[in-house]
Amino acid sequence: MTGRCKIDTLLVQMGNRRDEHYRAVSTPIYFSTAYRHEELGLQDGYDYIRTGNPTRDVLEEAVAELEEGLRAFATSSGMAAVQLVFSLFEKSSHFISTRDIYGGNYRLFEIYREKYGFEFTYWHGDDEAEIAELIQPNTKAIFVESPTNPMMKTFDLKKISQITKEHDILHIVDNTLYTPYIQKPLVLGADIVIHSATKYLAGHNDVLAGLVITNDEPIAEELAFLHNSAGAVLAPYDSWSLIRGMKTLALRMERHEENAKRVKSYLKTHPLVTDVYYPGRGGMLSFEVQKKELVEPFLQALKIFTFAESLGGVESFLTYPITQTHMDIPEEVRLSYGLSDRLLRASVGVEHADDLIYDLDQAFAVASKSEVK
Ligand code: PLP
Repeated sequence: MTGRCKIDTLLVQMGNRRDEHYRAVSTPIYFSTAYRHEELGLQDGYDYIRTGNPTRDVLEEAVAELEEGLRAFATSSGMAAVQLVFSLFEKSSHFISTRDIYGGNYRLFEIYREKYGFEFTYWHGDDEAEIAELIQPNTKAIFVESPTNPMMKTFDLKKISQITKEHDILHIVDNTLYTPYIQKPLVLGADIVIHSATKYLAGHNDVLAGLVITNDEPIAEELAFLHNSAGAVLAPYDSWSLIRGMKTLALRMERHEENAKRVKSYLKTHPLVTDVYYPGRGGMLSFEVQKKELVEPFLQALKIFTFAESLGGVESFLTYPITQTHMDIPEEVRLSYGLSDRLLRASVGVEHADDLIYDLDQAFAVASKSEVK
């Protein structure tokens, strides 16, 4: 595609004009695991699916362009993407990460700490300048989610990149919640971007996928080697599903954001809500209700929002992080950054905002009545 196109156009055109053979508009799905060799010693294309697949290549090339990186790698889940990136580092490496992160990332870091001697310093995320003081001689990278899951904190990625460059360490950003439609961390100076593509990129709660993107040639080469060696690559059908989902990302993100802003305004005035955390863009927000006892009846009463543990799909979801996405984070750790038993996380979908607000309103009414009993 031409680099002059806006991201909306790049998204819609993913895969188009790639099929030279029949000029199919929708990218063909190549299921074949193996490719015939014309002669001994001649390897001029694909040979084995783990190493390369035409459908996955279309996805990876398009994603690299969307994030303005050099190369992208599609993995079998978001966690496989995190794992691929951390397999770049040697044992006993030290990392800095925010405390407020997706529970699965925290759990994986704990496994790395116990099994491979990786060290993690958890930064509170208040002032980017503090990061420099946390850097040690064996520090290899800083990992941040921006916005964070679930407290929706955002960081000055440019400032963090300046610090990482000064100290010759890597800046890794999990861009799952904002997507390249809102934020391009590589352009702001990051070295590696990670996605749980299961979320907004796929967008329909029906694909498990991850992505890693970099703009650094040596890192890309190492990632390609590790991607093929460990093998958690994305399957052809899932690669195609992700391409199809991403075509509407721009439209969906606009509507997610419009709806989230309406829901945020509604929640801010509700007497049973004490705090609302909205990062300013996108479709995610978290909020705290007055009492923990309201949580269960409120979730039970919802008719449109689904009580489920994912995010970024067209359907609106509500998640209770402390028993779902963040259950592996010890209580004292989660409380230290404000993840309380009164916090609910909303992934605001693309339904009509009036209906979403009506649903929340009726669920609050039911919850407050059941509390009185
Ligand atoms: N990163 C973030 C911010 C997430 O929210 C998630 C999943 O919820 C992941 C990574 C892991 O992705 P997956 O569930 O696709 O493995």
